[in-house]
Amino acid sequence: MHITGIEIDNFKSFAKKTSIPFLEGFTVISGPNGSGKSNIIDSLLFALSLSSARGLRAEKLTDLINLNSGKNTAEVAITFSDGTEIRRRIKRTASNYYSYNYLNGRLVKLGDVVEFLAKFGIKPEGYNVVMQGDITRIMEMSDGDRRRIIDEIAGVSEFEGKKSRALAE
Ligand code: ATP
Ligand code: MG
Repeated sequence: MHITGIEIDNFKSFAKKTSIPFLEGFTVISGPNGSGKSNIIDSLLFALSLSSARGLRAEKLTDLINLNSGKNTAEVAITFSDGTEIRRRIKRTASNYYSYNYLNGRLVKLGDVVEFLAKFGIKPEGYNVVMQGDITRIMEMSDGDRRRIIDEIAGVSEFEGKKSRALAE
């Protein structure tokens, strides 16, 4: 299963509704500094509820709403190759904000999205995206720390946890 496309509406620098196709295999996004490349990755993590505001390089969630459009909502939809669509919308009000998660157009709880993604090994606490600067960090970290990242991606950490709990019994 892979992502086939992202639709970004009023999220960060994307004031105009923008559709980005993701091809099977490899998709490259190029552009000048500050043109919004990383914002596309942020939009993905936002829609899949995989990151806090800080992880999306924003102080608070409402900072993700485009500053110039005057609109009070930001919305991102992710489509997968099996036809599943995951959508998230945030709405700013005078004193508060609301976050809505949709699975195939149906309003669902955040937990339902987390559960759906977990079936594919995508977890909020997991290592899902190699962010800008991560390569240098991974190169410079200790062998042990690097091993922990590999174990996490390979899904071994889960079993290591179960093993140590079983041995302790
Ligand atoms: P680089 O090549 O330097 O990594 P990039 O293409 O990854 O650049 P981004 O970090 O995706 O660039 O985009 C940064 C731009 O997004 C900045 O110009 C910033 O002002 C803009 N931006 C972020 N949040 C908002 C917002 N809420 N409304 C409007 N613009 C925003
Ligand atoms: Mg960037």
